[in-house]
Amino acid sequence: MAGIYIHIPFCKQACNYCNFYFSTSPGNQDRFVNALLQEMVLAKDYLEGEVIETVYFGGGTPTQLRVSDLLRITQKLQSVFGFHSLREFTIEANPDDLTAYKINELKSLQSFGLNRLSIGVQSFFDEDLRYMNRAHNAAEALAAVKRAQDAGFQNITIDLIYGTPTMDDERWIQNLETAFSLEVQHLSSYALTVEPKTALENKIKKGVRLPVNEQQSARQFQLLMNETETNGFEQYEISNFARDGQYAIHNTSYWMGKKYLGLGPSAHSYNRESRRWNVANNINYISAIEKGELNFEEEKLTEHQHINEQIMTGLRTKWGVYLGAFSPAHADTLRVTLLTIDSRHYLLKNDLLTLTHEGKFFADAIAAQLFLEEE
Ligand code: SF4
Repeated sequence: MAGIYIHIPFCKQACNYCNFYFSTSPGNQDRFVNALLQEMVLAKDYLEGEVIETVYFGGGTPTQLRVSDLLRITQKLQSVFGFHSLREFTIEANPDDLTAYKINELKSLQSFGLNRLSIGVQSFFDEDLRYMNRAHNAAEALAAVKRAQDAGFQNITIDLIYGTPTMDDERWIQNLETAFSLEVQHLSSYALTVEPKTALENKIKKGVRLPVNEQQSARQFQLLMNETETNGFEQYEISNFARDGQYAIHNTSYWMGKKYLGLGPSAHSYNRESRRWNVANNINYISAIEKGELNFEEEKLTEHQHINEQIMTGLRTKWGVYLGAFSPAHADTLRVTLLTIDSRHYLLKNDLLTLTHEGKFFADAIAAQLFLEEE
């Protein structure tokens, strides 16, 4: 089983913290869609005939495309890869795009298997949204979720960002309470991070945005874990929370090491033997495909890289990392390294390694400590 990720590289407005690849110029959308359809045929063999289980349209902002274009992309995907075993089909959407008209149009994709919407809410407070330069306001965020539910979407996930300097702890709890009151099935929540070369980094340096405070982020992560647990959400991955086992199947397959094919500029693919990533530039992506070529870089994975990937992703999930799956020598190396790590941060039971509540604050650092060195 494998997944397909489609990167739609257009956004209405640039959020100042974002380091994904996107363009705010819609000029090349028709050429892009045609290139994407061709790429499906050119890149198909990367999955070595694996059956498609999940489809995820992300970006950028997929809902910046016309629904007729999303439909063309979906139909071509279905004809090239087959949807007979499709379990989950998600489209990311921003609240300002989810007008009643657009939601109604999106319903036309339900007959192809669309069964999940991921709405980029980020906050239910205008001040936070302005801090991040989001294109929508709080009222639109609330209305978009309700409109999607009224239109019959029964599997909705929303994104919320914590650690925004404009949001104190009380307001973070209010944000979470609003999410719970909406009865969404799933929540993804990340700390605001100031990535290098982003507009946010620049604005903080110039003193026109408040700096991000690590202690505030850590406190709000703790509140996130407490509040979600009290309200019936399971933290099945460090940043992902689901009600009633309604996990994100597509994202979970990344963490489980399943194969996936990424299509569109900057999209990443993985087939257990290699990783590859498309050029992060619309014009270069389109012109290569118009010449019948794919423009990507590729890295063959070594055994150690495989193991390190499993440690990095598995450790973040409730399913953990099973040391018994590795060779006895590698498992021994990991057991010895674990002795150097604070024992309050992890559990090792029957060779299954998971993080404790406290360890979740240090997941990346613990993974890095466990990584096997190349020989
Ligand atoms: S909408 Fe998403 S992809 Fe687009 S700029 Fe904002 S965070 Fe980045």
